[in-house]
Amino acid sequence: MKIESFIRTIPDYPKKGIQFRDVSTLFQDPRGFRMAIDMLLHPYAGQPIDKVAALEARGFILGGAIAHQLSVGFVPIRKQGKLPFETMQEDYTLEYGEATMEMHTDAIKTGERILLVDDLIATGGTCEAGIKLLKRAKADIVGCAFVIDLPALGGRKLIESLGVDVHSLCEFDGD
Ligand code: AMP
Repeated sequence: MKIESFIRTIPDYPKKGIQFRDVSTLFQDPRGFRMAIDMLLHPYAGQPIDKVAALEARGFILGGAIAHQLSVGFVPIRKQGKLPFETMQEDYTLEYGEATMEMHTDAIKTGERILLVDDLIATGGTCEAGIKLLKRAKADIVGCAFVIDLPALGGRKLIESLGVDVHSLCEFDGD
């Protein structure tokens, strides 16, 4: 089965005009979830990875499983106010307004090779904030891996323009 066939589309969620790509149906299927983790890791086989970083919140589910598979550590990049220790912060643009992502200041050591993970890339703003945090922590970013790319929103091009490779498992038209 193709990965797309495990993903449910919910029209007009969370607001009118948005086609929400729901990965809960992928996660709840034993073969679907296993396939997603295997496929996300496939291009990086044989490459050294020191840690997996992931973007809140669905990215954590994928990132945790990938880190476990690689036997490496996991770093959460969270929305403002959720992390208990000292953080570094990056603002990013949402469809309406701004938000802030945070990472613990001791999460990454200089030169560590990091794979960044999320469920979906749309405009790339969330991922860009994560990349900026990782770069400030002097990480060596191996790549960014997503289950879904929405190419019409240009996120992949934005991230590639920052010199970071993008890997995705499937694409959906429109936004
Ligand atoms: P962006 O910063 O525009 O690339 O948006 C990516 C983030 O928003 C990811 O963490 C996604 O989980 C979420 N997201 C954006 N658009 C959608 C969508 N159509 N369906 C599901 N999640 C989305």
